[in-house]
Amino acid sequence: MQFEYHQFTYGSDNYGVLIHDKNTSETACVDAGDSKAYLAALKETGWSLTQIWITHHHLDHTHGLAKIKEETGAVVYGPSAFPGVDKTLEHSEIFLFSGAEVHVISTPGHTLDMLNFYIKSEETIFTGDTLFVMGCGRLFEGTPEQMYESLVRLMELPEQTLVYCSHEYTLVSAKFALSVDFLNKELIERHNVVVDLVSKGKPTVPTTIGKELETNPFLRFSDKNIKEHLGMLSASDVEVFTKLRELKDSF
Ligand code: ZN
Ligand code: FE
Repeated sequence: MQFEYHQFTYGSDNYGVLIHDKNTSETACVDAGDSKAYLAALKETGWSLTQIWITHHHLDHTHGLAKIKEETGAVVYGPSAFPGVDKTLEHSEIFLFSGAEVHVISTPGHTLDMLNFYIKSEETIFTGDTLFVMGCGRLFEGTPEQMYESLVRLMELPEQTLVYCSHEYTLVSAKFALSVDFLNKELIERHNVVVDLVSKGKPTVPTTIGKELETNPFLRFSDKNIKEHLGMLSASDVEVFTKLRELKDSF
C-alpha cells in the first residue's frame, strides 16, 4: 500500500479516517463531522490536510466542515448540493489524490446524495453510512430498491477490498444478522470475534467486501436459508432485502 490510514473516533459511535502519502505529504480525510476530533487527529499524526471527501449531508459527517476547511485550506470534494464543497462529484467520476485515482460511487438509500470513495490502487473503499460491518444504513431518503442497487454496486468490488465505514454499529448489527442467518458458521464465528473486540474497546472497522459477502445479511438476500427463515423462498432479491431492512428497523 502506498498510503497510511489513521482511523479515529468522535461523537457517540462515528469513525473518521485520515489517508496520508508520506512521499508527497498529501493527506485526505473522509467527512468532517467534528472539527475538534479531526484537527486533533491531524495534530497527533503531524499530517497537513489537503483534501476533504464528504460522503453525505448528515450533520454527524459535515458539522465541522467550515472550521476544518478554514484551519487547513483543504479542497472539499462532495455531493453537489452541499455548501462548502469546492469540487462537486457525480457517480463514476474519478479524481486524483496524491496521484492515485479515487473512483466515486454513488450509493443512494440512506440519503439521496450519498457518495462512496474507492481508491482503486489501494483496493480500499469508504462507504459512509451505506455499508456497515454486517449491516447497512437506515433508509432516510431513498427507497429499498435504491439501497439494494447501491449495495449491489459495492458487492461487485474485489473481495479483498478494504472497507472503512462511518459508524461502530457492529455489535447490534451482528445480533440482528444472527437472528435471520443463524445457520451461517462464518457469522457465528464472527459474532464471537466482534463481542471480544468490542469488550476490549477495539474497533471492528475496517472490514472487507469478502467478509461482508459471507456474513452481512443485507448482502445475502439470495441466501436460501435466510429466504426460508423469512418464508420468502420464491421472493426476488430486492423483496428479501426490503424485508430484512424492515425487520432491522424494529429490531
Ligand atoms: Zn448519515
Ligand atoms: Fe452517520
